[in-house]
Amino acid sequence: MPDKKPITIVGGGLAGLTLGIGLRQRSIPVTVWEAGHYPRHRVCGEFISGRGQATLARLGLREPLMAAGAISGHTAAFFSPRRKSPIRELSEPAMLVSRFVLDALLAAQYRQLGGELRENERWRADDFSAGIVRATGRRVQPVADGWRWFGLKVHARNVQLAADLEMHLSPAGYVGISRLTDGEVNICGLFRRPVTTAEAPLRWQETLRGAMGSLRHGRLADAVFDENSFCSVAGLSLAPQRAVASSECCIGDTITMIPPVTGNGMSMAFESAELAIEPIAAYSRGEMTWPEAQQTVARHCDEQFARRLAWARALQRLMFLDRFQDALVLLTPRWQWLWRLLLERTR
Ligand SMILES: Cc1cc2nc3c(=O)[nH]c(=O)nc-3n(C[C@H](O)[C@H](O)[C@H](O)COP(=O)(O)OP(=O)(O)OC[C@H]3O[C@@H](n4cnc5c(N)ncnc54)[C@H](O)[C@@H]3O)c2cc1C
Repeated sequence: MPDKKPITIVGGGLAGLTLGIGLRQRSIPVTVWEAGHYPRHRVCGEFISGRGQATLARLGLREPLMAAGAISGHTAAFFSPRRKSPIRELSEPAMLVSRFVLDALLAAQYRQLGGELRENERWRADDFSAGIVRATGRRVQPVADGWRWFGLKVHARNVQLAADLEMHLSPAGYVGISRLTDGEVNICGLFRRPVTTAEAPLRWQETLRGAMGSLRHGRLADAVFDENSFCSVAGLSLAPQRAVASSECCIGDTITMIPPVTGNGMSMAFESAELAIEPIAAYSRGEMTWPEAQQTVARHCDEQFARRLAWARALQRLMFLDRFQDALVLLTPRWQWLWRLLLERTR
């Protein structure tokens, strides 16, 4: 058999490493370029739900993750500033795991399979031609619809949760608080500020805690933040994009970012990576041209993600309607269809 063509993956986040692992399992030569290092904290709700868990199992990654401290989440509850919903069972358990652990474990697995990982090395070329996959994460957009969107995350102790995931809504943004291992919780929020505001931004602690007197503020009253785990991200764009519109081979958030409220972005990173394995392996073995492989990956990703992206966009809009928040909290646990919309249509 002729030599296999080498593959370069730019971006060693969840999508890039998962694709690297899948290709190494098929003995394809792969190099991953990662501008950052491992382990490190990332802005993320650290709540993996949906089909991506099956991808992890198929690639043999689920067991090592559980052994490294991932836990299963079974329940969720919604909160507005003043009201709380009853606790509701998730239709399928979620996986709760710190990104500090997750990204480092994937990097180690990829290296163990013989993959070359160029850590702390930024890909500076504009070249994403044959054999090069873009897995560089979200595309930066400083302003969207007159708002600046940003995300904050920190780990904390001394927080008693009513459910494995608590989703706290407020006019400024939503915050997910989820259980991690060893008594820790992850506190992660998506917020927006109007472009025109002259008000000074709040400190991150105040932003995450929310308004005095709110249920979120009460929940986090005694929280002891692990300041080393704090991280932030800005310039988020949540408008859905189609993979076939790009001539580059893209996976994960580089294709499009699903609103974080769905807890499905990591799943989409795993799923898109899995969808890319076979076409890219076929290109490497000389069974497909690069444009054929690229278009096959893009088509499969669009087919798999279009419906959930549309539902997620609608849901994201509702989340920021002030009057909707109390209704959502009160009605979601009672109305089966609303629960399905929130937790099933968006994954
Ligand atoms: C506030 C918030 C909360 C979220 N909560 C959840 C949640 O609870 N559940 C969920 O499933 N998802 C959640 N997500 C989404 C999830 O974090 C992303 O969907 C996921 O990280 C996407 O993985 P990725 O590999 O595409 O990108 P990333 O994980 O961002 O990886 C991209 C990598 O590329 C590297 N890179 C970029 N440019 C270059 C370059 N030129 N050269 C080399 N390396 C480069 C970066 O350093 C980075 O490591 C949340 C997101 C936000 C913002």
